[in-house]
Amino acid sequence: CGIVGYIGDKDATPIIINGLKRLEYRGYDSAGLAVIENSHIEVRRDAGKLANLVNRVAERPLKGKIGIGHTRWATHGEPSERNAHPHLGQTGKVVVVHNGIVENFMELREELAAEGVLFNSDTDTETIVHLIERYMGAGSSLEQAARKALVHLQGAHGIVVMSTHEPDKIVCARIGNAGGVVIGKGENEMFIASDIPAILEHTRRVVFLESRQMAVVTQNGYEVTTLEGAKVAVQEHTVGWDP
Ligand code: GLU
Repeated sequence: CGIVGYIGDKDATPIIINGLKRLEYRGYDSAGLAVIENSHIEVRRDAGKLANLVNRVAERPLKGKIGIGHTRWATHGEPSERNAHPHLGQTGKVVVVHNGIVENFMELREELAAEGVLFNSDTDTETIVHLIERYMGAGSSLEQAARKALVHLQGAHGIVVMSTHEPDKIVCARIGNAGGVVIGKGENEMFIASDIPAILEHTRRVVFLESRQMAVVTQNGYEVTTLEGAKVAVQEHTVGWDP
């Protein structure tokens, strides 16, 4: 439902939680975030209001300069902590948040289960992270693995992924219209969101991904390509109004 990502010099946790608060108007039933802290991925999630997630974070703080967060509107799997995003892969080294519905998730889940993957949630989303790990395990970079994984997905999606294998980037993609994916440019920091209100307090310089586009976002820039890998010349916009 709502997505916020951050990569920069600052503590990602409050930036992500504040961004998620700005997206509360969209409605949600659970929330979570993941940051890379000392080369490993820390995840906090909970069902219910963002206040529950804030309590989890207060109990067990997590600190890092790169992170992704999500407010979930459940479509597959009840609203619960284990079904809340972000979802980790089996290695614990790749993590994903996702808006939309993996229409063919039953087939993908069976295929992955047959390969020995153990699922930790009832969500359609979890198939995405296992597919990415399948290709990273076979030697692909995060970007290439995401490309290979995403072509398997039917339906409309906004997807954001990060990995401790490549802790200096966030990969995001949009397929169809399951809400947007917007990249916000700051000074030595970059933001990713499903909707601009999440990041407007930090920057007004934004780029919107179109369907079947993907971006690799680093602290100082971004590169947009099609899912097939062709470079895209994007247009940056300056948001001049208060939504
Ligand atoms: N289909 C996913 C799930 O149920 C994502 C839902 C959403 O867009 O928040 O977890």
